[in-house]
Amino acid sequence: MSAVPDNLSLELLYQAVEQAFNAVLITDAQPAPLGPRILYANAAFRTLSGYSATELLGQTPRILQGPLTDREVLDELRQCLDEGRLFHGSTVNYRKDGEPYWVEWNISPIRDAQGTITHYVSVQRSFSELVAAQSTSLLLSEALAASHDGVLITDENGIIEFANPAFESITGYRIAEILGRTPAFLRSGEHDDAFYADLYASLGAGRPFHATFADRHKDGHIFHADQTISPVRSRDDRRTHYVSIIRDLTARVHDEQALREAASLDALTGLYNRRGGEGLLERAYIGAREGGAPFCLILADIDHFKAINDNWGHPAGDRVLERVGRLLRACVRSTDGVVRWGGEEFMIILPHCELRAAAEQAERIRERIERTSLPDVGRITLSLGVAQFVAGEAVSTVIERADRALYQAKGQGRNRVCS
Ligand code: GH3
Ligand code: MG
Ligand code: MG
Repeated sequence: MSAVPDNLSLELLYQAVEQAFNAVLITDAQPAPLGPRILYANAAFRTLSGYSATELLGQTPRILQGPLTDREVLDELRQCLDEGRLFHGSTVNYRKDGEPYWVEWNISPIRDAQGTITHYVSVQRSFSELVAAQSTSLLLSEALAASHDGVLITDENGIIEFANPAFESITGYRIAEILGRTPAFLRSGEHDDAFYADLYASLGAGRPFHATFADRHKDGHIFHADQTISPVRSRDDRRTHYVSIIRDLTARVHDEQALREAASLDALTGLYNRRGGEGLLERAYIGAREGGAPFCLILADIDHFKAINDNWGHPAGDRVLERVGRLLRACVRSTDGVVRWGGEEFMIILPHCELRAAAEQAERIRERIERTSLPDVGRITLSLGVAQFVAGEAVSTVIERADRALYQAKGQGRNRVCS
């Protein structure tokens, strides 16, 4: 052990230790079972542990131990001390208020002139913040790995530095093949210059940019993704990175399409339901207004359908509706819309069609139904009303006219076409 240099007083050394950033603890070297007792703790130690000098004085350092204190480290410490070696290790200690903290610490045995150990000097450094930071970044990386949203991080020049597994599965690209590139490979060509101008303007102003992107998957197909690109700034306000969060909307877009279709189709017949029919009418109306070509409507109602239900039962009635729906579909052009307009009433929308042609079509339908023998119920008949859309009128007016024609057909004995 080196002696105190002549030009330094003990007082100076004491001040130095007292002011040190590291925690310093000096104990005697009493043997077991009592063990070493605390003789001195510097200010850093008192701050770290929360104990005052008087609370520590005469105590065993075991007061710092607790449930998370690593027993193996303590065993190693004991062995080192028994053998008079310097110990270096890390463990969890506990503050006076019970709060655990991580320390890295040395304990050196101090010997007298005869070589007998008289004291131990312990220097400790807390690294709880470091452990916390490490476990936070571990948590973050686990969260990124588990996320269903794709995460892409680029540097300030747009060079990719990080992509998580969800990004791989959404885009089809492996991380290894995109690191060091810019995300331009995702461009589908579906966005115009204004879209990118908007994007660069937002990012340039330090604002996040959020939009539905049409991106190109590695295998070539285009997918839709909800994407937010946010600029990241350093503490000194320099732009250092861009973080993109990408949520694949393809499944949702498909779901929405399927839902929309389901909402406009009739479950029993597979024809358009009234709501779907209204959509078709709107399109036919717009087509007639813009192109000037007329469209026609046929309203067809099953004759004495109530009797079918009464005689054969409701399920048999359902089968008739289903069969009539298929027959109607088979009779018309693929561009004509067949709609289950009400219970046993059907509407056929014939774009680009004049009244005469529509009436002829209605007559062919009437004959076809009359000729067809249906399971269970045998032959049934239809009454049909036909009307042509007149430029300038409302869609409801042409429907009323078709309805009146149908009413007329019923009134004239059914199984006929009126227009
Ligand atoms: P008309 O010749 O004057 O048209 O007589 P109709 O008996 O066909 O007319 P009405 O409108 O009096 O009866 C229609 C019947 O259609 C009444 C209703 O119970 C039945 N209906 C409506 N929707 C369905 C359905 O989805 N399935 C079945 N099986 N019957 C239905
Ligand atoms: Mg009827
Ligand atoms: Mg009816």
